[in-house]
Amino acid sequence: MTRHTASRAAGTAPTAALSERQLEILRRVAAGQTHQQIARALDRAVITIRKDSTGLRAALGARSLAHAVHLAHGLRLLDRERHGDHASYEAHRRRGETPCGKCRAAERAYRQNLRTTTKETR
Ligand SMILES: [Zn+2]
Repeated sequence: MTRHTASRAAGTAPTAALSERQLEILRRVAAGQTHQQIARALDRAVITIRKDSTGLRAALGARSLAHAVHLAHGLRLLDRERHGDHASYEAHRRRGETPCGKCRAAERAYRQNLRTTTKETR
């Protein structure tokens, strides 16, 4: 009888020690931005953003960036007192609040951006 020792890769909650920039990237990814857009917004090279996003995936034990966003939501990393993006705008709405000015402005920019990026598909 053979018995495989169960690898315990998954299951344990990773200690989510993300840097402030990794959190920022994650929030922007959750809000629908690409690495390119994030790089521009943070005034960094795309390669730097890619490196950070690989790092944050590893820190969260995520298999993809989408998975990282999912895990971060579960850990409430994105729900903190943060304002000024699409996700935080949505968070206000989910809490039944009127979004603050910073979030409303960000939402406007987000929608405008959506319109320009989906223009070619229709
Ligand atoms: Zn807000």
